[in-house]
Amino acid sequence: MTTIGHYINGESVAPDGRSQPVYNPATGQTEKSVLLASKETVIEAIDAAESAFSEWRNTPASKRARVMFQFKYLLEKNADKIIELIGQEHGKISHDAAGELQRGIENVEFACAAPQLLKGEHSKNVGPNIDSWSEFQPLGVVAGITPFNFPAMVPLWMFPLAIVCGNTFVLKPSERDPSCAIYLAELLKEAGLPDGVFNVVNGDKEAVDVLLTEPRIKAVSFVGSTPIAESIYATANAHGKRCQALGGAKNHAIVMPDADIDNAVNQLLGAAFGSSGERCMALSVVVAVGEETANQLVDKLSAAMADLRVGPAQDADNDFGPLITHEHKTKVKAYITSAEQQGADIVVDGRNIQVKGYENGFFVGATLIDKVMPSMESYQAEIFGPVLQVIRVDSMNTAMQLIDGHEYGNGTCIFTRDGEAARYFSDHIQVGMVGINVPLPVPVAYHSFGGWKRSLFGDLHAYGPDGVRFYTKRKTITQRWPSSGVREGASFAFPS
Ligand code: NAD
Repeated sequence: MTTIGHYINGESVAPDGRSQPVYNPATGQTEKSVLLASKETVIEAIDAAESAFSEWRNTPASKRARVMFQFKYLLEKNADKIIELIGQEHGKISHDAAGELQRGIENVEFACAAPQLLKGEHSKNVGPNIDSWSEFQPLGVVAGITPFNFPAMVPLWMFPLAIVCGNTFVLKPSERDPSCAIYLAELLKEAGLPDGVFNVVNGDKEAVDVLLTEPRIKAVSFVGSTPIAESIYATANAHGKRCQALGGAKNHAIVMPDADIDNAVNQLLGAAFGSSGERCMALSVVVAVGEETANQLVDKLSAAMADLRVGPAQDADNDFGPLITHEHKTKVKAYITSAEQQGADIVVDGRNIQVKGYENGFFVGATLIDKVMPSMESYQAEIFGPVLQVIRVDSMNTAMQLIDGHEYGNGTCIFTRDGEAARYFSDHIQVGMVGINVPLPVPVAYHSFGGWKRSLFGDLHAYGPDGVRFYTKRKTITQRWPSSGVREGASFAFPS
């Protein structure tokens, strides 16, 4: 049994205390356990980050960026190990884990531009011989709290940018797949990051509560489910912290009657079932405009789903793997059952899938549910499993009203050949990330990621330009150097 501890001040630490099992979701077995940090351990991490801050903030941005260049090299060199760790604890198939890592590395590449990103703004002669400029200073010690479903990518959304901006960092990754974060910390040290600049504490609510209330933590980035995001945002704000809290989702794809249906079917398969639907950008609802569109989609989707391969991470021929825990598998199956009981058609049923040799794994097969109604529990909730639901409507306006009426507003997509319809849709829909014939419109690293409505609490999106603003505070300096002999007397009018 391996024990996964914490990483504080450049060292692995494993103090005595509470722990919990880490499962291999493909076998249902536990081969590792993770320590759950006490208040004292989190304080130790904050102490280390605070001590490292002064020197790190004064390190030139170009030198901070050089650590990131080296870190990128090490991430690429050790990609296989990272992919293996993700596979062991999350169950993600290697090609999918490689994609996650690549999207994470792109955030490191963006962070390498720190000297350019932190240049600030300058205005000469805002008054006679007066210059003014704004600079972007680091906040101090900042924290990240991340979900299980992207154990590499979501932490990489946060700490590379926070660190190159001159902050020091405490990461609290998901306790369900904790090894990846510890390995990233080791690679950062190898890349030349000074001890204490990046720290990892594993744990649960006890550790999170310290990060949310400790006065030395200046900002909190959170990604996870909406109820937790909402409470994290409220608590962090109540303690005077800057906070961005990204929550859950229910992403709809509209398929218009003029769409290329075969293309839409291919795109929907990957976007609905990739990573077992455990993505905040998973397309979990298809809104078919017109009966003929719906009939074609259901026929073609169900035929194509027969060929999907479900199994363990190490077999690269699999399309997707298991769910994260036994409890989550039970919950996903219960949503399918509730849709059935409330009158929907279960066209393809993944509830009783058996994966040979992995009978105790947390697998649910790809499931297609037709004739779903907005009042159904399975429609309202984020299922976070390999379940695609079809809603039939008679117009694009009705489809858009449905999307706008949902509590979540993370991602959405339209499949159409009509440019005017697509333009109207992207302009008016109340969702933060929109695809036009692109099923997973995850913004690239030099844009920023964030949903609307109850998919994000806070003003600034994650990573990219918004990330730079989130991890810095603006200081504006106005300067005059009076030449001797022309000093003015006191002025009591407001300067104009
Ligand atoms: P989760 O909310 O259960 O956990 C997220 C983090 O919060 C973990 O680190 C966990 O330890 C911590 N946490 C859990 N309960 C807590 C509590 N009561 N108090 C304090 N901290 C607590 O989420 P998850 O199951 O790990 O991840 C899946 C969810 O994350 C889904 O809802 C998914 O949509 C969402 N997600 C959103 C995005 C996005 O960008 N919007 C990205 C990825 C995942």
